[in-house]
Amino acid sequence: MEIVILAVVIAVVALGAISGLVVSSRRKKQLPPPPPTTPSVTAPPAEPQVGEDAETPRDEERRTIEEVGLPDSGATLVEEAPVAEPEAPAAPPVEVPEPTAGRLVRLRARLSRSQNTLGKGLLTLLSREHLDEDTWEEIEDTLLTADVGVQPTQELVERLRERVKVLGTRTPDELRALLREELLTLIGTEADRSVHTANGIGPNGEEIPGVVMVVGVNGTGKTTTTGKLARVLVADGKSVVLGAADTFRAAAVDQLQTWGDRVGARTVRGPEEGDPASVAFDSVKEGISEGADVVLIDTAGRLHTKTGLMDELGKVKRVVEKHGPVGEVLLVLDATTGQNGLVQARVFAEVVDITGVVLTKLDGTAKGGIIVAVQRELGVPVKLVGLGEGADDLAPFEPEAFVDALIGD
Ligand code: GDP
Repeated sequence: MEIVILAVVIAVVALGAISGLVVSSRRKKQLPPPPPTTPSVTAPPAEPQVGEDAETPRDEERRTIEEVGLPDSGATLVEEAPVAEPEAPAAPPVEVPEPTAGRLVRLRARLSRSQNTLGKGLLTLLSREHLDEDTWEEIEDTLLTADVGVQPTQELVERLRERVKVLGTRTPDELRALLREELLTLIGTEADRSVHTANGIGPNGEEIPGVVMVVGVNGTGKTTTTGKLARVLVADGKSVVLGAADTFRAAAVDQLQTWGDRVGARTVRGPEEGDPASVAFDSVKEGISEGADVVLIDTAGRLHTKTGLMDELGKVKRVVEKHGPVGEVLLVLDATTGQNGLVQARVFAEVVDITGVVLTKLDGTAKGGIIVAVQRELGVPVKLVGLGEGADDLAPFEPEAFVDALIGD
């Protein structure tokens, strides 16, 4: 009898074990498929960054999803409803920036508001019935206050005096046309103001992305401008890689990555306080391997010691040039800083060959004349202007649209 009972107990236990195995193997087959692993351009940060081998957030996320999806141990023989597939984490949508053509015209209201004293002020003064010495002095003061600079101011006033004399009686339209012409001469309409982003040629004759270095003192809007420029390029159909070489400011690196993420551009970053030149080098390397059109490098802008800055920026450029030429070095200047901006321009020009200027915060100052002064100082054209904190408030600089906004048409 005891033997029979023992045999029954063993049989029940064995049956239980077998059915458990069946359930467990069935459950395993019901495991949800892993989330998609193909890298998505909508979520560049999920990819490992160059120079970083730490686990990415997406790896972590994937593991968590798999763990959550595992069957619990209290399995029963009852068939369960199929486990629903986990929803893939929603990636932020990639933005499509607005086209850049005619942007300055669209931002015209902002420009004419801030530069009102310069343009309209000059017109009002020139329209006075008697253009006596005091009036000419006022015209001169208006130009100087707008940071046009002493030499260009004197040249302009001289030309205006001559032409007004020849004109005799002046209608408002004639005056406006005359002032427009003279301001355009002062700013220059011949210069090549395009940002050079064409492919370069590497040391072995291979094509490499266009490389743009963005330099300037911290606070001028350098990182913001790099981000906005990425949008300008994406809007124009180019693929972009960003290099966060301002490694001394963690905030700047994150800020740049946020800009990149918004338009699907990968951001290459290095360790905090790491070597900016190596980040710059890695970003071009990444651009080459991705087959990107353009690599934009945001650099550090500490002006504590001039020598330190010289060493650093010079090195960044030299190291990048191991891959091929740097097509453009853009100096970012804050238009509200006036003469200080010119001092900065001088210092930077000693360190690297500046090929273009970006004048930021023109929306917040009446000192648009700095465009003339800085072009004279550096002998390079203003190529872009910042007209606000909005993502698309960076416009290609077009002298005609600028002057029209100043004096109305
Ligand atoms: P960085 O230290 O030179 O990299 O400067 P940031 O890019 O961090 O910019 C400094 C501040 O200037 C930020 O608050 C920007 O939003 C602001 N800024 C940049 N460009 C413009 C512009 O064209 N107009 C205005 N109003 N603000 C700007």
